[in-house]
Amino acid sequence: MAYDDDNIFAKILRDEIPCDKVHETEHALAFRDINPQTPVHVLVIPRGRYESMDDFSTGASDAEIADFIRAVGEVARMMGVVDDGYRILANHGRDGHQEVPHLHIHIFGGKNLGRMIKPVDK
Ligand code: AMP
Repeated sequence: MAYDDDNIFAKILRDEIPCDKVHETEHALAFRDINPQTPVHVLVIPRGRYESMDDFSTGASDAEIADFIRAVGEVARMMGVVDDGYRILANHGRDGHQEVPHLHIHIFGGKNLGRMIKPVDK
């Protein structure tokens, strides 16, 4: 599927709409989620046009991947959630309930997050 240049995170990257930025690197941007699910809820996105982990993991350069992953760790440290713990999550596609078609890693923290995934009916 072709990358949608009109998705909301593409607009944030082009500075067409604002974000609550917490960190930026050559290949990544991090900003607070507009609808936080936990006291700390930050999204880290690559600057490149990648829809999800699927095309990022196949198409991104080693430099992009390294910078992006390092940015995730750096944001967690900046948010002060390393000692008590945090969770990272990236949704892909329909079953993952991905809403915005630009790769983003959620960083959740600031409270006890409970078990990873609640059991669902098969
Ligand atoms: P996902 O289901 O993984 O695609 O989650 C998309 C996330 O993007 C949700 O947690 C939304 O609250 C968040 N979101 C949507 N629009 C914005 C925005 N303009 N700024 C910050 N976060 C946003």
